[in-house]
Amino acid sequence: MTRRGGDDPRSIPSEPALRVIMRRLREIMAEPGDGQSRLDKIVVQISGLMVAEVCSIYLKRQDGSLELFATEGLNRAAVHNTRMKRGEGLVGRCAELSVPVNEPDAQHHPAFSYRPETSEEIYHSLLAVPVLRGGKVLGVLVVQNRTRREYSDEDVEVLQTTAMVIAEHLGSGAVAGAGLGGDQERTIALLIKGEPISDGIALGHIVLHEPRVVVTELLAKDPDAELVRLDKAIEELRTGLDDMLEQEAVSKAGEHRDVLETYRMFANDRGWVRRMRDAVSEGLTAEAAIERVHNATRARMLRQNDPYWRERLRDLDDLSDRLLRIVAGRLHTGKSNADLPNDTILVARTMGPAELLDYDRSRLRGLVIEVGSGQSHVAIVAKALGIAAIGQATRVIESVTAGDPAIVDAQSGELHLRPTNEVIQAYSDKVRLQARRQSQYRQLRSKPAVTKDGTPIGMHINAGLIVDMPSLKDAGADGIGLFRTELQFMIASTFPRLDRQTQFYSQVLEEAEGRPVVFRSLDIGGDKTLPYMEQPREDNPALGWRGIRISLDRPAVLRGQFRALLRAAAGRELDIMIPMLSTVAEFEAARLYLDREREFMRRHGHSEPLAVRLGAMIEVPSILFELDALLARADFISVGSNDLLQYLYAADRANPRLSGRYDTLAPAGLRALKSIADACRRRNVPATVCGEIAGRPLEAMALLGIGFRSLSMAPAAIGPVKAMVLSLDLGRLTEFVGSELDAVTGDSLREPLRRFAEGDSIEI
Ligand code: PEP
Ligand code: MG
Repeated sequence: MTRRGGDDPRSIPSEPALRVIMRRLREIMAEPGDGQSRLDKIVVQISGLMVAEVCSIYLKRQDGSLELFATEGLNRAAVHNTRMKRGEGLVGRCAELSVPVNEPDAQHHPAFSYRPETSEEIYHSLLAVPVLRGGKVLGVLVVQNRTRREYSDEDVEVLQTTAMVIAEHLGSGAVAGAGLGGDQERTIALLIKGEPISDGIALGHIVLHEPRVVVTELLAKDPDAELVRLDKAIEELRTGLDDMLEQEAVSKAGEHRDVLETYRMFANDRGWVRRMRDAVSEGLTAEAAIERVHNATRARMLRQNDPYWRERLRDLDDLSDRLLRIVAGRLHTGKSNADLPNDTILVARTMGPAELLDYDRSRLRGLVIEVGSGQSHVAIVAKALGIAAIGQATRVIESVTAGDPAIVDAQSGELHLRPTNEVIQAYSDKVRLQARRQSQYRQLRSKPAVTKDGTPIGMHINAGLIVDMPSLKDAGADGIGLFRTELQFMIASTFPRLDRQTQFYSQVLEEAEGRPVVFRSLDIGGDKTLPYMEQPREDNPALGWRGIRISLDRPAVLRGQFRALLRAAAGRELDIMIPMLSTVAEFEAARLYLDREREFMRRHGHSEPLAVRLGAMIEVPSILFELDALLARADFISVGSNDLLQYLYAADRANPRLSGRYDTLAPAGLRALKSIADACRRRNVPATVCGEIAGRPLEAMALLGIGFRSLSMAPAAIGPVKAMVLSLDLGRLTEFVGSELDAVTGDSLREPLRRFAEGDSIEI
């Protein structure tokens, strides 16, 4: 369509044609006149230069409809009269999907919407591109022709570039009644569905982790200087990626590395770089060139149905964003904590755990991540910080504007963006109620957890990071029943060496102020991976190389950790436990390594802990059939019910489809757990339950009913579970649970237990 150098309609448009368009647009922008008259001139110019019989500009109104603002070729009386409803027609489709629409026979397209007032019936082919600013659709730019023809990629690029100029023009506020649609659309309430990754509800205001760069200067004043800027930025991008890959050099595989490799492939793609350089030569600034090539490549990739290319699209988006930030000098200008609002809801496409820790916790209320899931490492930190967080929030980045009011409901996994007053009211009530409950629980803080009939219950928290430590005191817990040491390893970018580990464990013990801490040896594998450690891809990671299996195959890691723990606990008592034991032999092997480390310390004159106890986690059903042998060797037992129930029912704990399938209060699971409690009591071995069920009042009640006297849970669960304990007659409960379990039915005890609690006025 553009005037070309050769006869081949598919050839690259001759440079002069694009240059001419850019020059003309620049002139139009420089000429006197109001915003509307500039739009009128643009459509005349584009229709002429692209040899199109029609060129029209539709702009978005507040209600999302598109209004014809300027046209060359259609009936002028339709200007400001023709409006397309949101999503209506091919123009609406272009705006809604934010992609070019290229139709040789538009009138026969099922989405075509005919508007008689425009007299467009004689035009067959149509090319529409979105007018985008900062990722938001402000309107649509359209060309039409009588002949049935498919517009070339180059036509699309020319029109996209023109659309960028229009977007800049609108952004300046020069066109009365227009250019606001994109922003005003953002006043509309929106519900974005994700998945909960850290429980809680947060009301606050949006802060973008990596603020988007809005390209405002499109036309270069000095093209040579722009080329230098672009080249320098590309170089910086490449070096940065090389550095990142080098840091990852210890790992030979892994998803992160794959992504970086793809980035590097793009960054070194000569076609990509050449197209950006060409765009600068045509008169665009470096920023505008990056954006134009990004838009054009995006449009091409969107046409591919192959999921591989769809996935690469995200990489391209990220890379172009990164390049834009480099060229705009905004790569390392993350939000400084001083600028953060006190009710920050942080929104990120992806985020590493260390990045989240850089933010001032006291200002953070919520976190929304577009790509990360509950298994991601940042989710661990969000949980530790107690921030309401949701992941898999599709298209959140393009839907938010910095400063938007928002509510994160991490119970249902929803983000309410720009909520209505009614929604704010409903959530404020909910939050107030929770706060009241929390303050009631706080009053229980110093009360010992003793049942009504006088049995003391051990109340411990699960932890794994230094940021967890204040919760120990805040919750009024007896100690830490499960310290997941792997979390520290997971959020580090390199393997923590002996000194670093020793210092970390010392700090934990220091902050525990004499309360017992049970350190679990490194439990990686399965869903828990270390970015710097090579881990094989496995078909069944939950049944694979994980927990103690890795530790025994890599004894240097286990011994190093034992050494660090022994050093850190010098002069104090030390409790360590071993995860994922399938056999007693594995426990014995671990104990041997511990004994050797203790011997080593003695020989070298290091001061030792006052006492060292080694416990076994019961997480794999096979060990239930070796309980007596295990209890003869272990100093204490901790039941990892998350894994034990997953293996007992052969139901992946991370698979949401299965999450409600097997009731944790069904007799099979409870009988297995009871056999552990009974055996531990017979042998006088202390036992704790540290899986999630220990933190749910009804389930915790059932655990007490089958004989457990010590529980370890998330800090927030201590209050509700303690309230249950204080209102419980344990004798009556034990009798009730015993008779229910003796009954020969497979029915869950959930309902009977609930009724029992209700009848006995137990707080659950
Ligand atoms: C468990 O399996 O119940 C447990 C506490 O360990 P994790 O959840 O860390 O696997
Ligand atoms: Mg486990």
